[in-house]
Amino acid sequence: MQDTYVHKGKRKILVNYLREKMGIADENVLTAINEVPRHLFLESIFEDFAYEDRAFPILARQTISHPSTVAEQTELLELKEKQKVLEIGTGSGYQTAVLVAMKALVYTVERQKDLHDFSQKKLRELHLRPKFQSFGDGFAGLPTFAPFDKILVTCGAEVLPTELLHQLKIGGTMVIPLGKTEEQTLTRFTKISEKEFEKEEFGAYKFVPMLNNTNH
Ligand code: SAH
Repeated sequence: MQDTYVHKGKRKILVNYLREKMGIADENVLTAINEVPRHLFLESIFEDFAYEDRAFPILARQTISHPSTVAEQTELLELKEKQKVLEIGTGSGYQTAVLVAMKALVYTVERQKDLHDFSQKKLRELHLRPKFQSFGDGFAGLPTFAPFDKILVTCGAEVLPTELLHQLKIGGTMVIPLGKTEEQTLTRFTKISEKEFEKEEFGAYKFVPMLNNTNH
């Protein structure tokens, strides 16, 4: 599959939709979404629908999030160039690619081996490589590379992964869907001091669950 003018045209329409209908205002997020060929992260049968605001199945019974969810979560991060960001749940690698396109220093973790391998290959091919890509359990974060300016969790956590909060810089933020399997609340924590956090909530979503351990 290639990235043709037809795909590029559809991406422009998607970006306009995210800006005008979904209220996404961070132009750096919109520029990155305009740059990253989402159809190349999907199975070819979904190619024609890749720029609709829809989620699709990927390997290992996981899903690639709606573009509006990716945009919303990324906007909430308030990401700046060169910031260190830890992503939990690499999945297809699409969200990772958006963060890399925003010139962040990205560290990403995935617990499903198939998806770890798929995303690594894809991100290399597209020259959108994160700083570090790990096959492991995101509950542990990446202590060797901590602290991070930002942490983005792309799976729904029933319990707050407190280890991740330890790996955040003071002044840093973590965006995470929190709640039971049926529905999660998109939540943002800002680290005020070693022990104090500000908590904000941004509505209901449905993500695949954050699970323990790894799966080969
Ligand atoms: N950002 C991805 C979304 C994938 S869905 C994309 O753009 O495609 C969420 C991902 O989180 C799944 O791939 C799932 O396997 C992964 N995941 C769930 N629990 C995890 C954990 N504890 N550590 C790392 N990844 C996890």
